Amino acid sequence: MPAAASPRIFDVVVAGAGPAGLAFAAAVKQALGAGIAVALVDPRPDARDGHLRTVALAEGPRRLIAQVGAWTALAPLAQPIRRMAIYDGRTRDAVRIEQLRFGGEDDEALAHMAFNDDVATALRAAAAALGLETIAAAVTAFAPGRDMAELELGDGRRLRARLVVAADGARSRLRALADVPTVGWDTGQTGMVATIAHERDHEGLAEQHFLPGGPFAILPMRGRRSSIVWNERHADARAIAALAPEDFLRELEYRFTLKLGALSLASRVEAIPFAFRFARRFVADRLALVADAAHVVHPLAGQGLNLGLRDVAALAEVIVERMRLGLDPGDATTLQTYQRARRFDVVSSSLGMDALNRLFANDLTPLRAARDFGLRVVDRLSPLKRLLAAEAAGDGVKAPRLLRGLAL
Ligand SMILES: Cc1cc2nc3c(=O)[nH]c(=O)nc-3n(C[C@H](O)[C@H](O)[C@H](O)COP(=O)(O)OP(=O)(O)OC[C@H]3O[C@@H](n4cnc5c(N)ncnc54)[C@H](O)[C@@H]3O)c2cc1C
Repeated sequence: MPAAASPRIFDVVVAGAGPAGLAFAAAVKQALGAGIAVALVDPRPDARDGHLRTVALAEGPRRLIAQVGAWTALAPLAQPIRRMAIYDGRTRDAVRIEQLRFGGEDDEALAHMAFNDDVATALRAAAAALGLETIAAAVTAFAPGRDMAELELGDGRRLRARLVVAADGARSRLRALADVPTVGWDTGQTGMVATIAHERDHEGLAEQHFLPGGPFAILPMRGRRSSIVWNERHADARAIAALAPEDFLRELEYRFTLKLGALSLASRVEAIPFAFRFARRFVADRLALVADAAHVVHPLAGQGLNLGLRDVAALAEVIVERMRLGLDPGDATTLQTYQRARRFDVVSSSLGMDALNRLFANDLTPLRAARDFGLRVVDRLSPLKRLLAAEAAGDGVKAPRLLRGLAL
């Protein structure tokens, strides 16, 4: 019997070639060039979801995408959000009162809407241009050792790396293999996601309606199209998603109204139960978790991938600094530095998002009055609004360099 091939050795292996894994691998390769041996491993590296899922890229994560060379390809496909309006109301209210409005004062976009597929395609091209290697296989086993971790792949190959980065999504296999526990709870809501077409132009306006069943977002896309993320309690969502297209559109019109003219479906409708979950630790021996592998938040304020790209920026900065000094990118000091940098932001953002969702997803009159009052107070206080927007953009003074548009 031939002896099993000896494992290939890397500095860093990234499990998962979704947007987070691609962005991380591209950032470290761009900074270190031949000074780092890095590979991406993914069983479906070219997977697409058919222009269904969208992301609201905040300015910091957009700068990161630009810095790794993927924005030029993405920009013509991305729709700037010029204004954002937040409403609180009941589903069938004839008029819902606008509680909070952002933007419209200058030309700067509040965020950019893009299809997840387009973000991944642009990052894939940037990664290929940097010469990154992608191995098409799933990670099936993980064994950390003193100086290296060993990975086994679905096709029997083995790899060794000083650091393994788990960017393998919400159901992270690596997180389970490393026995990292998670905490979280069911939000009680299922999100229906679809792209719709409409007769009139949205003029870059994004709307978030807080309805008793859950938040309902209308997000402008290129052309006369919008992405909807429509949350309802599980049973209601299952029933609505199973409707014939014309009945589904009628239900949609109650929420969307006909202000943009007649509506039609421009994609399939997918119903996704939303759980709220984060890993108790973002690191384990020779392992760092990023993005959905580390945390799944309510997609209420478009923070899912934004939070993930903030992890990527923080981890890439730590790894590049350590490797430039000739230090081990997977040792305990490196990993703890990353965990300290991210934990507070992730836990506070996730809990904030969950609390906001709970506050709005009910119809008690005193609560309604209190939250409307709260939103109006925020609306009056422009500096507070700017601070909220800056935080959402990842612009704080201590933000990692990539989020500030600076090279590593
Ligand atoms: C309905 C919906 C709406 C959303 N809306 C927004 C929004 O408006 N704004 C926003 O910012 N975010 C949003 N999000 C969240 C956002 O889509 C995710 O945060 C983002 O896609 C996560 O990226 P990722 O790279 O971590 O994971 P993924 O994109 O899930 O990629 C994980 C990759 O890992 C690979 N993989 C899986 N198992 C293995 C294995 N064993 N070995 C190797 N590779 C493996 C998979 O093939 C996949 O390519 C939304 C999510 C959903 C579900």
